[in-house]
Amino acid sequence: MLNEKMLRLGRERSAIRELFEYGNGRAQEIGRENVFDFSLGNPSIPAPACVEQEIKRLLRDMPAQELHGYTSAAGDAQVRRAVASYIEGAFGVPMDGEHVYMTCGAAASLTIVLTALCEEGDEFVVIAPYFPEYRVFIENAGGMVKAARADKRFHLDMGSLDEAVTEKTKAVIINSPNNPAGTVYGENELKELAVLLKKKSAQKGAPIFLIADEPYRELTYGAAVPYPAAYYRDTIVCYSFSKSLSLAGERIGYLAVSPQCTGADDLFAAVCGAGRSLGFVCAPALFQRVCASCLGKSGDLSRYRENRDLLYNALRSFGYECVEPEGAFYLFVKSPLSDAKAFCERAKKYELLLVPSDSFGVEGYVRISYCVKRETIERSLPAFEKLIKEFE
Ligand code: PLP
Repeated sequence: MLNEKMLRLGRERSAIRELFEYGNGRAQEIGRENVFDFSLGNPSIPAPACVEQEIKRLLRDMPAQELHGYTSAAGDAQVRRAVASYIEGAFGVPMDGEHVYMTCGAAASLTIVLTALCEEGDEFVVIAPYFPEYRVFIENAGGMVKAARADKRFHLDMGSLDEAVTEKTKAVIINSPNNPAGTVYGENELKELAVLLKKKSAQKGAPIFLIADEPYRELTYGAAVPYPAAYYRDTIVCYSFSKSLSLAGERIGYLAVSPQCTGADDLFAAVCGAGRSLGFVCAPALFQRVCASCLGKSGDLSRYRENRDLLYNALRSFGYECVEPEGAFYLFVKSPLSDAKAFCERAKKYELLLVPSDSFGVEGYVRISYCVKRETIERSLPAFEKLIKEFE
């Protein structure tokens, strides 16, 4: 009677959402300040001032029916041109408005691209640990997930990628700065990846695309984030303003097909077709325009950096093992129990809500989102200390 696949997906809920709901329940029982909810990647710093200024300006200056009416399916032409010229200026790669599609955030960018690319039998390579929704998006597009491993410090492992990428591969998805590990891929590893993908594409006799999922591009603590399209021409960037501008609930982002991609015009036409078939046409019109005036901007990232330093240094001093994140707002910590789910259950005893790594495609870690108030981290530290003492 119903689509079984969708029923299962709807019932299963993500481990992260599940924890978030649990946290809300506990907050009602014992008070929000006593629950240390590190489950969700919801930005905790205010949007930069340009967002409010631009909203006010647009509401004042633009006729309402124009401002709130449909834009073209791929987005407002002026906005798409602004995004393209920003990409050209900031990253020194060719781009034009005709290859930019405005979307409802990175989730929509990814589902559109995957739907546009996927043919029967296609595999999509992801790098574990990976954002759990990749599996949902890939399988819904009709593709198969093939996981490569990251190395011990969560950078690209070329050996593992070499094994995972085959003639069945349609695309490889990378995410830097990374959720959940906070890794930022450097120039050399992107160059090595480009060499590998060129070799594999030649063996396949068809391009293997690189999908760069970049909602955290601006969120780094000093590390430069090289632009993947500068190293590999068959690149599609899935971008979102959710994290950089703290606009996660407004659902706004874009995807950019490099005009240097093999068959770029057809690929973009397939993107438009996928957007149409999925109902992702005309991203929120007001926020398209707001974001066009705030390109490359972000809120006060020093707040995330302070949280990172406080949490990372404290957890290391208590005996937790983790790699210092270079970007995004997640700390990926080795679980003292090989069963990370069991460890997260123990953490709940101290009102610590941590996400087990299993849905990220690796076992034995937990993800801590530190996009929370600084006081939450400060108040949670004694709980983290007591928790690890249980395993000494
Ligand atoms: N990709 C990654 C790696 C993410 O972490 C997220 C959200 O947390 C998304 C995509 C989806 O982002 P958006 O809110 O823009 O849809």
